[in-house]
Amino acid sequence: MKKHLLRLIKKGATQPLLFKLIYKRQGPVVPVVMYHGVSDYDQITPVMLEEQFDWISKNFTSYFASEMEEAKLDSEAIILTFDDGLRNNAEIVFPLLEKYGLKATFYVVSGLLSGTDMLWNHEATARFSQLTENDRKLHFGDSASDINAFVSSLKLRSTAEALAVVAKLRTMTSVDKFTDEHRVKYQIMSEQELLQIDPNIVEIGAHSHTHPILDQLSLDEAIEEITTSKSLLEKLLKRPVDSFCYPNGDYQPELVSTIEKNFKTAVTTVSGVCSTSGFDRAQIPRLFVLPDITDYKFNIIKPMRNS
Ligand SMILES: [Zn+2]
Repeated sequence: MKKHLLRLIKKGATQPLLFKLIYKRQGPVVPVVMYHGVSDYDQITPVMLEEQFDWISKNFTSYFASEMEEAKLDSEAIILTFDDGLRNNAEIVFPLLEKYGLKATFYVVSGLLSGTDMLWNHEATARFSQLTENDRKLHFGDSASDINAFVSSLKLRSTAEALAVVAKLRTMTSVDKFTDEHRVKYQIMSEQELLQIDPNIVEIGAHSHTHPILDQLSLDEAIEEITTSKSLLEKLLKRPVDSFCYPNGDYQPELVSTIEKNFKTAVTTVSGVCSTSGFDRAQIPRLFVLPDITDYKFNIIKPMRNS
């Protein structure tokens, strides 16, 4: 009986009116939601995103990541973030933000805006799949038999080693042979597409210059990645770039002071929410997006209820 009642409350609590009554004034936290790609090939499809945005728009007020100071004063605040500047963010996410009157922050890699660029790990996947298993093993060793496992293992090696693999793959494969799936999932928007995005709806944040694993670089190289991405994006957009996102969520603790100097906020991939009573603006945790709408809602509500 108790279980049944609980389920009913749970179910009702994600409906706008009940949700407002139960949770709104309780949570001194700001949920920051982390998205990546949205497409029919991704874990989050356009249909799922629309359902999520519909619910968000009825229950929250969205803020840019750089507006944390304002957001923390608003008990209905939420921050929506999208990593990597993928083309599908411009083509699929942006129109839905506009439709539902929401704001979001897109974190863009300043050195990958030619229009056909991909993150190196995405490019490796897209190119490896053009080779037969035998060719992969012959040229890259037996562990290249499983593409996903091999690309994941590259992330643990030095950036130079990973880029050398991509360089070798470029000589053996062709951009023209990328599948539709890889193009839609992985291609990053061009400078032109970035410039067309309405800055009142989307804040552009920096996500490094080449998306390296920062803690595999020297401190100087990592600082260069961070400051170059900020200055190039500011030059291109002709406005301040106040938010940063650590690629892969990895960084040396010494970088935090550089981030504090250059940005209002920076987000990590640590799971959690910001308590408005005290949070580190240079190391903001985020909530992961779950595809099932009920899970998605509760992932956002739960920390507000528990705070
Ligand atoms: Zn990223």
